[in-house]
Amino acid sequence: MSDRLEGRAEIDAELQGSVARGLGAVRDRVEQAARAAGRDPASVALLAVSKLQPAAKLRAAYSLGQRDFGENYAQELVAKAAELADLPDLRFHMIGHLQRNKVASLVGLVSAVHSVDSVRLAAELGKRAKDRPVPLARRLAPNGELMVFIEVNVAGEAQKSGCSPAELADVIAAVRAEPALRLAGLMAIPAGGGEASVSRAQFEMLRELQEEHGGPGLLPGSSIGMSRDLEVAIECGSTWVRVGTDVFGARG
Ligand SMILES: *Cc1c(COP(=O)(O)O)cnc(C)c1O
Repeated sequence: MSDRLEGRAEIDAELQGSVARGLGAVRDRVEQAARAAGRDPASVALLAVSKLQPAAKLRAAYSLGQRDFGENYAQELVAKAAELADLPDLRFHMIGHLQRNKVASLVGLVSAVHSVDSVRLAAELGKRAKDRPVPLARRLAPNGELMVFIEVNVAGEAQKSGCSPAELADVIAAVRAEPALRLAGLMAIPAGGGEASVSRAQFEMLRELQEEHGGPGLLPGSSIGMSRDLEVAIECGSTWVRVGTDVFGARG
């Protein structure tokens, strides 16, 4: 092997090792938090947030059994989907603010959208997803519907994304009106620095909204919890934790 190839192999081994450590540590935290909350660890799924991380790190996580990846930017998601097209059961989740003019480029590539925050966005997703169901190997819903979480702004002024609690009923109705969408539940990004008490108050608000708007029958899932507050989120009923930094390291 030439020196150059050896150098490459060392970088790859280092990257694989660091993703293995990060992913392993986060899986342990999720499992411990679930047990501490008296929940079945299998009821909490890990979404590895890979925004601004190279495709090689997603490949490393995939080789360790990770299948669900969260991306924030439409253009980056499209590029990574092309780079990783040889992994047919890798599932992308769009978790960042989504503009309606980007919807057409994403449907068919993503298995879920966690950031639906308006009636108009729900209608556009429903219309486009009808023509392009999620491919069989990447499905989270049985008939190829696109899984949708409604993002709610529970942080008030400090947070700009998400619908307001007052708009939630209309957004729920808009998602339910679209046969190509499957309503998965609510999503929130709490304001604050991840202090347990601050995140907890906002997660509890989300739980109250879930109860008010049909309960787990209509809104079974809850997409809450990041590197800084996943334990609190799991205590508060999270079914999808979205973890980036603690899996992949600081973003480039
Ligand atoms: C970046 C991001 C995450 C992951 O945050 P970390 O602190 O890196 O774990 C989760 N959710 C959303 C919506 C994000 O934008």
